[in-house]
Amino acid sequence: MGRVEKGVKCVVPGCDNLALRSIAGVKAAAAGLNVSSDKRAYLCKEHYKRYKKGMKKEKMIEKWRHKI
Ligand SMILES: [Zn+2]
Repeated sequence: MGRVEKGVKCVVPGCDNLALRSIAGVKAAAAGLNVSSDKRAYLCKEHYKRYKKGMKKEKMIEKWRHKI
C-alpha cells in the first residue's frame, strides 16, 4: 500500500489513467481485477475503488463459505 510515483500508469488492461495506489498483485487479482498476481498492481483512482468493492465481495463470499 502507499502512494505511487508520478507518471506510473494503471496496470489494468485498457486503462490509461495514472496510478495513484500500489497494492499486491495477488490482492488485486483476488478482488477480480484483470492483473497479473505476481507483480505489484498499480491502480488508478477508479480501479482502486473497484478493488475495494471487490474485496468486500470476496469477504462476503468467505463468510458464506464458512457458514456452509
Ligand atoms: Zn485504471
